Amino acid sequence: MPFDNLFQAQLDKLKEEGNYRIFAELERKCGSFPTVQNHGEGADDVTVWCSNDYLGMGQHPNVVDAMVEAVKAHGTGAGGTRNIGGTARHHVALEAELADLHGKEAALLFTSGYVSNWAALSTLGSRLPNAVILSDALNHASMIEGIRHAKCDRVIWKHNDPEDLDRKLAALPANATKIVAFESVYSMDGDIAPIEEILDVCEKHGAMSYIDEVHAVGMYGPRGGGVAEERGLMDRITLIEGTLGKAFGCVGGYVTGSAAMVDFLRSFASGFIFTTALPPAVAAAAAASIAHLKQSAAERDAQKRQVAKLRAKLDAAGIPHIDNPSHIIPVMIKDPVKCRQLSDILMDQYGIYVQPINYPTVPKGTERLRFTPGPLHTDADIDKLVSALKQLWQQCAIAHAVA
Ligand code: PMP
Repeated sequence: MPFDNLFQAQLDKLKEEGNYRIFAELERKCGSFPTVQNHGEGADDVTVWCSNDYLGMGQHPNVVDAMVEAVKAHGTGAGGTRNIGGTARHHVALEAELADLHGKEAALLFTSGYVSNWAALSTLGSRLPNAVILSDALNHASMIEGIRHAKCDRVIWKHNDPEDLDRKLAALPANATKIVAFESVYSMDGDIAPIEEILDVCEKHGAMSYIDEVHAVGMYGPRGGGVAEERGLMDRITLIEGTLGKAFGCVGGYVTGSAAMVDFLRSFASGFIFTTALPPAVAAAAAASIAHLKQSAAERDAQKRQVAKLRAKLDAAGIPHIDNPSHIIPVMIKDPVKCRQLSDILMDQYGIYVQPINYPTVPKGTERLRFTPGPLHTDADIDKLVSALKQLWQQCAIAHAVA
C-alpha cells in the first residue's frame, strides 16, 4: 500500500534492535487465573507472571457480579460525556468511594490512569499562574506527556532525591506556583519514593504535591489507599492519582484532592470533558473491588507472602534480582535479544509467561524480566518458575550477560 515503506522502515529498525513488540494472545478464564489459555506460540496453558491485575480482583466474584448486574440493569456504554448525559449514579458513587479511600474531599474519574495524568498535569501546568512542574526523572510516560503539554516551565529532579528537589525548588522565583510530580512505587525497578522527605521539601517551599499511586493503590495501606496511606501521609498530599486497571482489576483512572481542585479539573481538563464516560458497569465493578479491598487484607497479605517466597527462592537459586521493598521483582538480563529469547523459552517449554521489558520502556542495557507474584500464585507455581529460571541460567549464556 502507498506509504507502507515509510512505516516498514521504522518497524525493521525496531526488529533489528530486538525491540519489536509481540503480544501474547491470552484468554483469561474466571476461576483459573493466573493460569490462562494461550492462543499464540508456546504451551496451551500458561501461568502469567507479569500481570498488573496484581491481586486477581479482575476475577473476584464480587467484582464480576457487580459488573454483570450493572450491565444487565443499565446496558453497556455511558451514552455520552460526563457533561452531556453520561454521568450515572455509579460514577458518582465510585467518586465518593475513591475520595473516602484517600481521605480527600472529592475525586474525579478518567477513562484511564494514563489520561488522568495527562489531563491533570497539562491542565494544572497550563492554568495555574506562573506554574512550574518539577518532575522526578523516572516519572511514567503519562506524566511526561501531561507535563510536555502543559504551557509552563518544567524542571527535572534526580530520581527519589529530596535534596536535589530542595535545591531546584530554592532556585525558582518566589511568585511561581510549584507543582512537584512523582510516583510512590516505580513499576520498573519496584523502588518506593521517600514520600515523607519529599513532602517536607514541598512544604518548606510552599509547593503542591502530585503523587501517582498507580502501582500501589489496593495493595498498600490498611485499606488499600496506597503507600501514602501506609505511611500516614495522605492528608499532606495535594493530589493523589490512581488507576482502576491494576490492583482493582477493572479499567479507568482518577485523581483525588480538595473539592475546589477537583471542581477545577472537572471544569477545565479537556481529557475529562471531551470524551465518553466510562461504562457505568465498569464504575460499579471498580466500586465493588475498592469496597472489598478496604475491608479485606487477605489478598494483600497473601501477595506479600508470595512475593517474599519468590525472592527467597531466587536468592537461594543464585538468580540476581533488584532488591526493593515492593511487590515487583525485576530480574535483570541487560540485553534485549537475550531477554526476548529467555521469555520465548519460558513460554514455549515451561508454560510460563513473562513479557520481556525492553527499550523504550526501560533504558537500553537494563532489559529485564519483571515478575509480579500475586495471591493466586501457588507455592507450586513459584517452585516451577524458579526451577525453570535456574535451568536456563545454567544452560544459556545468560549468566555472563548479567553483571
Ligand atoms: N502511571 C504509571 C506509573 C503507570 O505505570 C501506568 C500504566 N502502566 C499509568 C500511570 C497509566 O495507568 P493506566 O494503565 O490506568 O492507563
